[in-house]
Amino acid sequence: MEAWLTDFPQRLIDGYTTFLSARLPHEQSRFRELAETGQHPEIMVIGCCDSRVSPEVIFDARPGELFVVRNVANIVPPYAPDGQAHGVSAALEFGVGALRVKHIVVLGHARCGGVKAFAEEAPPLSPGDFIGKWMKLMAPAAAKTPRGDASPADYLTRLEQANIVNSLDNLTSFPGLAALIEKGKIATHGAYFGVATGELSVLDRASGAFRSIAPEAQTRAFAVPRL
Ligand SMILES: [Zn+2]
Repeated sequence: MEAWLTDFPQRLIDGYTTFLSARLPHEQSRFRELAETGQHPEIMVIGCCDSRVSPEVIFDARPGELFVVRNVANIVPPYAPDGQAHGVSAALEFGVGALRVKHIVVLGHARCGGVKAFAEEAPPLSPGDFIGKWMKLMAPAAAKTPRGDASPADYLTRLEQANIVNSLDNLTSFPGLAALIEKGKIATHGAYFGVATGELSVLDRASGAFRSIAPEAQTRAFAVPRL
């Protein structure tokens, strides 16, 4: 290997080589077309940085299909035109204003380290650092989610799902976006991925519950022997 490349992760070199031989041949014309005409994704996904919850993998997405922004615990901060730099808000502005996406999906997940740290007030949270301040954005979700007599695992699930709802609420704090939602030009959705089970649930706004979108196929996928 050439000297300048020795520090680059071998895993990425191997993955790229596989991409060149396996996927690129099928996607070549699509990449070319997307380069010429630009991207026109209709769906924006706001997900967590968690390496197990990749929207492109979960939704089997092709290049150009999903406009994705990921951050710790899939949080949408409230609209804050305070002159500071806001990454999620910038992505929203671009997705909504320039790309004119038709759907925004907030994708949360089980076993979210950010939500767990917030619930347990545990490391890596601390008042002075970035993640501690960031996770405080989910305080309204926690305030609406009493622990009651829920088991720790159930409480975390409720908190993870309340955090998704809180992000959906915060989307409506952006005036331009709120108007588009009101007019039916953009639909927002909450989704929750069960990492261990592969189950995807979507928020049913009428009941406030997250319901599995393909329970039979998901059960089948886990029931069939692999070999
Ligand atoms: Zn997470």
